[in-house]
Amino acid sequence: MRNGLLIDYEFCTGCQSCEVACQKEHGFEAGTWGIRVLDEGPWEVDAKTMNWNKIPTPTTLCDLCAERTQQGKLPSCVHHCLAAVMKYGPIDELVKEMDKKPNQVMFVPGPYICK
Ligand code: SF4
Ligand code: SF4
Repeated sequence: MRNGLLIDYEFCTGCQSCEVACQKEHGFEAGTWGIRVLDEGPWEVDAKTMNWNKIPTPTTLCDLCAERTQQGKLPSCVHHCLAAVMKYGPIDELVKEMDKKPNQVMFVPGPYICK
C-alpha cells in the first residue's frame, strides 16, 4: 500500500513551519525545498467574498520522510504543523478522510522519488 499526505488547507494558517521543518530534516540548502506554501489569491469572488488560500504543496524532493517513517515517526512537516492540518497514511485511508470535507488536497510522491 502506498502512502501519501492529506492537507486540509481550509485551516492552514500559512505559518510555513512545514517548509522549515522539511528543510531542516533533510538538510536542504537555501532555495531548495521539499514543500512550499503557495499563495492562491487574493482575488474577488463577488462583492462580499474574497478568495485567498494558502496551499501547502510538496515538491519533487518530497520522499514522505522515508527515514523517519521507517522508524515509526511522522513526517517532519506533519509533526511540526501547529494547526494539525496535515495527515500521513495509506492512500485509501486518506481518500476516506478526503470524502468527509472540501478544501483538502492529497499528495503522492512522483517517479523522481518512487523509482
Ligand atoms: S513529508 Fe517530509 S519530505 Fe515530504 S514535505 Fe513533509 S517534511 Fe518534506
Ligand atoms: S505548518 Fe501547517 S499551518 Fe503552517 S503553513 Fe504548513 S500546513 Fe499550513
